[in-house]
Amino acid sequence: MATPRPVGIDLGTTYSAVAWVDSAGRTKMVRSADGEILTPSEVLFQDGKVTVGREAHYATLVEPGRVAQWVKRDMGQKVYARPILGNYLPPEVIQACILRRLKADLVAALGPDVRVVITVPAYFDEPRRKATADAGEMAGLDVLDIVDEPTAAALAFGESVGYLSGSSDTSREMTVLVYDLGGGTFDVTLLQLAPGHVQCLATDGDVQLGGHDWDMRLVEHLARAFKQEHGIDPREDPVGEGRLIESAVEAKHALSARSRTTVHIEHDGQSLDVPISRTEFTDMTADLLERTLCTSRQVLAAAGMPWSCVDRLLLVGGSTRMPMVVEALETLTDRQPDRSVNPDEAVARGAALYARYLLTDETASKTAGFTVTNVNAHSLGIESIDPATLQKTNVILIPRNTPLPASFTKKFTTKSENQRSIVIQVLQGENTDPAECAAIGRTMLADLPEGLPANWPVEVSFEYEANGRLRVYAVVPETEREVTLELERTVGLSDERLGDWRPLISSEAGFDAFDAMLNDTKEDALPAVPSLTSTNPTTVTSTPTRPDETPDMSATTAFDRSSPDEGDRDEPPVTISSGSDATKPPPCWIVWLIMWITSGAAGLAAGYYWLSLRQPDRFPLPWNL
Ligand code: ADP
Ligand code: MG
Repeated sequence: MATPRPVGIDLGTTYSAVAWVDSAGRTKMVRSADGEILTPSEVLFQDGKVTVGREAHYATLVEPGRVAQWVKRDMGQKVYARPILGNYLPPEVIQACILRRLKADLVAALGPDVRVVITVPAYFDEPRRKATADAGEMAGLDVLDIVDEPTAAALAFGESVGYLSGSSDTSREMTVLVYDLGGGTFDVTLLQLAPGHVQCLATDGDVQLGGHDWDMRLVEHLARAFKQEHGIDPREDPVGEGRLIESAVEAKHALSARSRTTVHIEHDGQSLDVPISRTEFTDMTADLLERTLCTSRQVLAAAGMPWSCVDRLLLVGGSTRMPMVVEALETLTDRQPDRSVNPDEAVARGAALYARYLLTDETASKTAGFTVTNVNAHSLGIESIDPATLQKTNVILIPRNTPLPASFTKKFTTKSENQRSIVIQVLQGENTDPAECAAIGRTMLADLPEGLPANWPVEVSFEYEANGRLRVYAVVPETEREVTLELERTVGLSDERLGDWRPLISSEAGFDAFDAMLNDTKEDALPAVPSLTSTNPTTVTSTPTRPDETPDMSATTAFDRSSPDEGDRDEPPVTISSGSDATKPPPCWIVWLIMWITSGAAGLAAGYYWLSLRQPDRFPLPWNL
């Protein structure tokens, strides 16, 4: 049986690219049906058709309401920020439409027997990674894994300099900084290359920073100039705004090649020529660039490394073509950027190499000749209450920049006697204040055996896979309870909804077919009741919460400093309160009863006061007014 072709997909915010590895182990780019290596990540929705790529991009200039752009920025959100023809779509559904187009291109080039790796920014969090994998699955792709874009870029670089084969004379370790500034996201990652091994040391980034922000600064500048001249802001009209963005992107690209350019704007029968210099453009975007430099310094600090230890500076992403980026990085690092990999192709090529690595690992032939270790970009923890302060706190189980896969267990104890259930709220973020972290999901350990005394131990484990996906386990020692907990996710499509969307997307359905599905999109707001996969199958019932509401935090974990620490990394053990804990808000009927009694008493008092005014002798007032 022929082995499937290893394919890498760089699913970018502005452009996507596909690469594969040939039988000789060399990476090659796949050309789209339009004959291009880069496919615009834009989707045009028409009644019977969903069109992706160049054609969709042109449509933004005439029918912006039908086109979805920069959807990657909204991954991990419930819906894409802008309505399409009056409907809000889940972002992973739109990304799945892009992937289905890329799939058609790669099947045309390579045949149907392909297995893919999709890339994500290293700074993508767990819900965004899951949404990306879900999009691939809905598009009918056989997704081997999700891999970080900088890791993929480093693999492409490793290939070009001979590190991956381990056969070159590059015997010493090399530290590489990957600075990836694309259209919508920014990532900076420090990696160590050794012959046959790629190890990620530290990573940081911003999923809301990219070339698009530079574009919008120019748009602002152009719109102001036009308004000053003609009294109208072209952005007030969506078509006018689309054209202005297009002109701004063109001017930005021109300023990468020349020191000045002129933008011609036509709107509402009026026109204006706005000259702009590279220096002006650099000045109006200086703060954006500074944000990337600040993050780069932080990554070095997190790895505890001076700039002198960085051997190579790898620039990835189309926005690194801006001269201001190159100049600032040369000043910051005191070294020239490496040009050995194409910034548009590095990520897709590296992802294809990773796919090959995974495939050969599966077939145990080990010909890929290298291993990869990633780290997690965000800490993961559990919401708890510190009884000393009664403040909610984030107890971190897996600190950021931990090499993956990683598994951490923390010992907790139950709070009350005969506690029957435990709620675990999973947090992502570095802050000790849960309000400053993202609540990515929650789960419940139910049906604890009857009659357990207070302070009974409960061990909660987080297992973080190499692709950045999380699993939660709980063990209650000396009982039969040992469970894998399903996270009730705060955002993202439920398995059931994914199942509904899958046939529509993989069957090339058009927007009219999406319409019916969109009409009950509201269902997506109500995640399923948490389920347990258990050695003793159990049923759990709880009230579902809407993802946009703060989940009921009445039953959370709490520090119990009086409990003995069972030697778990010097952290105090944590007490977990039950669902019937006293901190839970009173049920609704009690609130109503109290309100009813209060208003009755107020009515009686008002009546007595009215009588006392009429007959003060018979109804004296008991207080002085
Ligand atoms: P993504 O991975 O987010 O899709 P890419 O790496 O494909 O992004 O980069 C796209 C971004 O690069 C866009 O914002 C585009 O305008 C910008 N870009 C491409 N070429 C140039 C250039 N010559 N000068 C300035 N910016 C550029
Ligand atoms: Mg990119």
